[in-house]
Amino acid sequence: MALLDFILGTESKRYVRRVKASVAAIESRRKELAKESDDALRKKTDDFRVAVKGGATLDSILEEAFAVVCEAARRTTGMDPFNVQVIGGMAIHNGSIAEMRTGEGKTLVAVLPAYLNALSGNSVHIVTVNDYLARRDAVWMGQVFSFLGMTVGVVNSQNQSYRYDPDHRDHDKERDEEGAYKVVHEFLRDVPRKDVYASDIVYGTNNEFVFDYLRDNIEYEKDNIRHRGFHFAIVDEVDSILIDEARSPLIISSPVEIPASHYTQFATFADTLEEEKDYTIDEKQRAVSLTPDGIQKFERILKVENVYVEGSQRAVHYLQNALKAKSLFTKDRQYVVRDGSIVIVDEFTGRLQPGRQWSEGLHQAIEAKEGVKVQQETRTYASITFQNYFRMYDKLAGMTGTALSSEEEFYKVYKVPVLSIPTNKPVQRVDHSDVIYSTRPAKLRAAVKKIQELHEKGQPVLVGTTSIDHSEEISKRLKKKKVPHEVLNAKNHEQEGEVIAQAGRRGMVTIATNLAGRGVDIKLGGADGADRPEDIKKLGGLFVLGTERHESRRIDDQLRGRCGRQGDEGETQFFISLEDDLARIFGSDRIRSVAQKMGLPEDQAIQNKMISKSIESAQKRIEGHHFDSRRFSLEYDTVLDKHRSEVYKKRRSMLLTDDQGVLADFFSRDDLVGENGEAVPTETLRRAVLRSIDVAWMEHLELMDYARSSANLRSYGQREPLMEYKREGARLFQGFWDHVKEKVKESLQSVAKVAEE
Ligand code: ADP
Repeated sequence: MALLDFILGTESKRYVRRVKASVAAIESRRKELAKESDDALRKKTDDFRVAVKGGATLDSILEEAFAVVCEAARRTTGMDPFNVQVIGGMAIHNGSIAEMRTGEGKTLVAVLPAYLNALSGNSVHIVTVNDYLARRDAVWMGQVFSFLGMTVGVVNSQNQSYRYDPDHRDHDKERDEEGAYKVVHEFLRDVPRKDVYASDIVYGTNNEFVFDYLRDNIEYEKDNIRHRGFHFAIVDEVDSILIDEARSPLIISSPVEIPASHYTQFATFADTLEEEKDYTIDEKQRAVSLTPDGIQKFERILKVENVYVEGSQRAVHYLQNALKAKSLFTKDRQYVVRDGSIVIVDEFTGRLQPGRQWSEGLHQAIEAKEGVKVQQETRTYASITFQNYFRMYDKLAGMTGTALSSEEEFYKVYKVPVLSIPTNKPVQRVDHSDVIYSTRPAKLRAAVKKIQELHEKGQPVLVGTTSIDHSEEISKRLKKKKVPHEVLNAKNHEQEGEVIAQAGRRGMVTIATNLAGRGVDIKLGGADGADRPEDIKKLGGLFVLGTERHESRRIDDQLRGRCGRQGDEGETQFFISLEDDLARIFGSDRIRSVAQKMGLPEDQAIQNKMISKSIESAQKRIEGHHFDSRRFSLEYDTVLDKHRSEVYKKRRSMLLTDDQGVLADFFSRDDLVGENGEAVPTETLRRAVLRSIDVAWMEHLELMDYARSSANLRSYGQREPLMEYKREGARLFQGFWDHVKEKVKESLQSVAKVAEE
């Protein structure tokens, strides 16, 4: 690993050396530009646009354009970009992930490559982790963009869409008596969604960008089409978005009526089958396969000759789920039954996941097995994984404080390399070694004691927890000790942004889960310099106290990274116990019994390198597991992706065309001539075509689900399910367009009939 770090380190260092001359050129150019008038600076944008249109490459104007942005940023925001920020901007322009620590000013960094790449006339998407940050960054950086004559839009959830407008001050928008909304709404004007996508720069969350793509592909009005192509995406907190949140696809769906008895019948039949004789289990792959005996029984009960021919896919799918529910899902291990419903237990950490559901009918199969109320299954209209969505961009780049440890995945999945950018000032943060206790209560007592000491001394503390429950537990204990504190749990990004920005004030104690207050920088002394930063530095800076290690080292690093910004003082330390979720995974029972034998009292910390190491190896195992499951889900989605892009492309051309001849791909002229000799209006034809594509696509998605189950169920005897799925998928898709044509014909005939009557 050390060797690898060494090599990776030099890759980044080489990059920094390589761009050194450019950085110097930009620096001296900036000095000259400082003498230019605002208008002269703004006019540069027009000149660049003309040059790019005339064939100039972006690389050839990079230095001048970056210098212009730097000067515009200085005039509008008061921030004069540091050279390391310029280097980060170049890395992003080159399609890399710029790894820059918290507080290095990534929001500003993104403006440089965004401006340059938007000069081509295509919009640049800047992807943030939540709605609040999209608005905050758009307003903050909108000053620079609009000074230079570029437009900035924001896509938020709940169909909220805005344009940045420096002259707009809509005070009616204040929804919050604390005034938190005011800050960002003052300069944001409501506009229709599609106008946002016409902006040069679009800020928005990953979910909204993806949902808009899916919505576009079930849209019937061409005037509502949102996206205008996938030119360049800069993903902020790229590890959170492209890795942590990329575990399951995004789906647009609606409930379907399937009677509960259906699942029960399959559960009952599955009960009669015997393991080994009728079916086999692969625990590792979490797959079930039928043996020839099992297949025979199934065919007998279904009264069919061959269960794998058309018509039985649905049945195979339900049986697959029923068998999985029976043999791979055990009550109180993978799930618990609470208040008459199934609650998923995270397989690694053992935490309950209320509200989450297994998909594709598996959840219902487990409900049937347990005899609890079966919930409605949903039918998918459109779906895509983040991986396949972001791979559509001509160029993809990102930034984050923590990327190197996931470098392999970024490269393998997204073809995006990671470059570690040096800090503006030397890092002074001190990472203390873990404090380990044998029991959880002892750990919590020690952590609370430490927090209390720090608070009394005046040193601000950020307490990191892995879940809301844990935050509340710490909060309760602190209340008992009368230590004032704030609790953040990612429920309200708006207010949390404000609170976390103040977490660096004297004596402040802030408890936060990993997700809370994300993307907001903590300044010593508070955001508006309420306390003197120098005083806080003397106390040791912000103390980050982790109360548990997270599932991945990267998330621990994210937490540590919240202190020690811009060369500030800062300390970090994790308090862990042998009863933590992670410790359970590496089998801490043995260690605990050794500790007991040695007669260690509960409240004495254990100093043991081996335990810290074991925790890290447990983290590595979880990371590996999640990587595998993302890769697995991606491999399957990629089979579908080929079909999806073909269908969506065709559908879009049908939505946009005004040429009956193009639409006529889908029907013969005979279908058009009713007894109604009258021409069928283009809109009627279009609707028939679009509707038919949509119905056929929904059916195809369903069949592909079944094909997946069937491939797994058949994998008995060395057959590779993914290969089977690919083969079956290709076969199913072959008839797709013919199928659409049949549907169009039916639909036009019924139109004709209605017209005759
Ligand atoms: P990050 O996302 O890297 O943690 P932010 O973009 O939130 O950092 O910026 C952190 C802080 O640094 C902000 O308060 C911002 O105003 C400040 N900052 C960024 N760049 C500069 C600069 N060049 N000069 C002065 N302050 C800067």
